[in-house]
Amino acid sequence: MSRKILIVEDEAPIREMLSFVMEQHGYQAVEANDYQVALEKIVEPFPDMILLDWMLPGGSGIQLAKKLKSDDFTRNIPIIMLTARGEEEDKVRGLEVGADDYITKPFSPKELMARMRAVFRRVSPTALDEPLEIEGLKLDPISHRVTAYNDRVDMGPTEFKLLHFFMTHPERVYSREQLLDNVWGTNVYVEDRTVDVHIRRLRKAIEMHGHDRLVQTVRGVGYRFSSR
Ligand code: CA
Repeated sequence: MSRKILIVEDEAPIREMLSFVMEQHGYQAVEANDYQVALEKIVEPFPDMILLDWMLPGGSGIQLAKKLKSDDFTRNIPIIMLTARGEEEDKVRGLEVGADDYITKPFSPKELMARMRAVFRRVSPTALDEPLEIEGLKLDPISHRVTAYNDRVDMGPTEFKLLHFFMTHPERVYSREQLLDNVWGTNVYVEDRTVDVHIRRLRKAIEMHGHDRLVQTVRGVGYRFSSR
């Protein structure tokens, strides 16, 4: 369930280093060493981000970025270009074809993580990577872990998404339909009652330390996540 990062880089030491850094930060790393392999790896479920080297055997990084950004299915995948020093013109071209950012080699893992977080924040403001906490209930979006006063809390993927949505949108009432759109997506057909089922499961999962009281029923309207 962690985010999948595709690393497209032909130089093995750099690729392996990046892969290591990604996994160290709770991401799932997928590697590609040239243009063709990269294309083969860009299939559903799509990577959540692509780190794309400039000079690649079989086609340039810029060609690949251009191709992905002109396709409806892949245009929303954020791309960070990895460029060598002094390729100023290329950076501009990269941004022109729709790359979301670039970083100049050599860079530190810290610098890269900061760029990645900034891009994630820009493309999906509600999907922040920072751990969330309300009254001892903690949710870490990267490691996909929930704890209540440091006790591990187990829950299904839908309950996790629901809790993540609630924790990033507290103190507001949402109707079942709004929750469906935000948590399940607008193209999914699910009955309103499904929301109630998952709310029940979520409450059960977090009741150990009384956090179920945060998930409040607002009669005739829907649900609210609130510490009041
Ligand atoms: Ca290269």
